[in-house]
Amino acid sequence: MDYKARQRRLQESLHRNRLDALLATHLPDVRYLSGFTGSAGALLISDAKTVFFTDGRYRTQARAEVQECKVVISKKGPLVACAEWLGSHKKSPGRLRRRIGIEGEHLTVAERSRLAAILPRDSALRETPALIERSRMLKDAEEIEQIRTAILLGANLFEVILKTIRPGVKESEVAAELEYAARKAGTEGMSFPTIIAGGERSSLPHGRASEAPIPSRGFVVCDFGVILAGYCSDMTRTVYVGRPTSEARRIYEAVRQAQQAAIEAVQPGVTAGEVDQVARKLLKKSNLERYFTHSTGHGVGLEIHEPPRIGTGQAEILRPGMVITVEPGVYIPGKFGVRIEDMVVVTERGCQVLTPTSKKLIAL
Ligand code: ZN
Ligand code: ZN
Repeated sequence: MDYKARQRRLQESLHRNRLDALLATHLPDVRYLSGFTGSAGALLISDAKTVFFTDGRYRTQARAEVQECKVVISKKGPLVACAEWLGSHKKSPGRLRRRIGIEGEHLTVAERSRLAAILPRDSALRETPALIERSRMLKDAEEIEQIRTAILLGANLFEVILKTIRPGVKESEVAAELEYAARKAGTEGMSFPTIIAGGERSSLPHGRASEAPIPSRGFVVCDFGVILAGYCSDMTRTVYVGRPTSEARRIYEAVRQAQQAAIEAVQPGVTAGEVDQVARKLLKKSNLERYFTHSTGHGVGLEIHEPPRIGTGQAEILRPGMVITVEPGVYIPGKFGVRIEDMVVVTERGCQVLTPTSKKLIAL
């Protein structure tokens, strides 16, 4: 991974935001800019250099992982270490105060107070927009390859689900088999708690696998993802146990068409909101729009949910290198639900679907 280029991009955005430095405390951001995968670390990025702070537990790991940074190992926490480091490295002459950017979404009120209390007098904290997350939206070729590998591995594991689902088996048993196979295949873990939601529970958009048995007839929503080398995958397929009713077929087909239309709308220059609108419009044709109760998709990368959000009114313009999900769904309370989700990468001319799995209705 080209950490130097990532840091350089960020340094340029510091200028645009009138900052002298940026303090990165959100661990996926720290990993993105330095390579560090541990659980205690902070990064101070300024014009002149990037400094990584951690504690003694991570001495060896930091040496092995962290790139393109000065590494400071401290007996104190990374935030205190950073404030003290600023105190011992004075501002450049002629400057009134150093403006240190912090990301309000990722620093607690207590952390901010602690930091302000020990920060040298010549420095001031400034809350800034999510600069690093914005930079992370555009994946480079190496990241797209990592994501593709994670997606392919995840898609292969769908077979385990198909083999395990049968009437009477608990949803949690299906999830367990899937997660066991994922770990055996070398993943770091699941991207999020696996969703296996059968029968009436399929109408819960986030029906985590429960103790409930798979019904003898009805939909089962399966939404899962794996983490491989830090990058997440995310896919949903909805299968039918038994012989699908004509209503079930009709609704599945409506969701499939909405999902396909939304994928076809993904291209550079359109807004995230426009893609969302396409899915909604298609479902409206079948009078199902009111049952589509969440956004059409989200960005995926080092985190399972990251910008851009593909939702109503979102003005973010899609650009080549963005990796997003397209996942409309229909949830009829007390009855059943259907969702189909693929991951796609925005290309120069449109998009490429990364999830290889068929979307034909599978009856088990
Ligand atoms: Zn999902
Ligand atoms: Zn998703």
